[in-house]
Amino acid sequence: MNLILMGLPGAGKGTQAEKIVDEFHIPHISTGDMFRAAIKDETQLGIKAKSFMDKGELVPDEVTIGIVRERIEKEDCIKGFLLDGFPRTVPQAEALDHMLNEMNRKIDFVIHIDVDKDILLQRLTGRRICKQCGATYHLIFNPPTSVGECDKCGGELYQRADDNEETVNTRLEVNIKQTKPLMDYYGSQDILRTINGEQEISNVFSDIEQLLGGLKR
Ligand code: AMP
Repeated sequence: MNLILMGLPGAGKGTQAEKIVDEFHIPHISTGDMFRAAIKDETQLGIKAKSFMDKGELVPDEVTIGIVRERIEKEDCIKGFLLDGFPRTVPQAEALDHMLNEMNRKIDFVIHIDVDKDILLQRLTGRRICKQCGATYHLIFNPPTSVGECDKCGGELYQRADDNEETVNTRLEVNIKQTKPLMDYYGSQDILRTINGEQEISNVFSDIEQLLGGLKR
């Protein structure tokens, strides 16, 4: 079960990744998480990646492809893996195909969690976070009992600097542009599967389960 998870910021990728990993017992491979861990541990890779990440740029393909190759070759990926945040460019997708081919493996499905941009704007700009305990709320979908105050600890709620409408809009536009060539790439291989991400979390997951049900575990 070799999978790629795609979706714009706010589409619920993180939530669904957690469920897929729990249900199907395959490792979740997030290149963003790997880079963040490397930065925290101050490894060579971390030092290389940091300068790009700080500017909001992509880490060069050769670095990113190298860490994915190393990760996929590990023992725990034998039964499959869930890639998240990779590939982000067509050369990365081609390199992935190439390395899997060498291992006599292939991507089974690219799961695209699809949510309309206007809904994503609403989801992301409505997010509020507790200053004290980090709990997250949403003004419409998960509001706190009293305005501006955390239900759990009474802390003050705030909006992340990059959750304002203008920044969110830019983030989404950049992501849509980046994702389009990949959608075309996997669409032409006929392994792209679009899941309606505008449903309840559990229904989104049911659709994913149904899709994966046919793959042998
Ligand atoms: P993410 O957590 O997936 O949003 O990734 C955070 C940052 O890590 C990105 O803004 C990039 O700088 C870097 N990164 C993660 N995945 C990749 C990738 N596949 N290719 C290049 N850079 C990446």
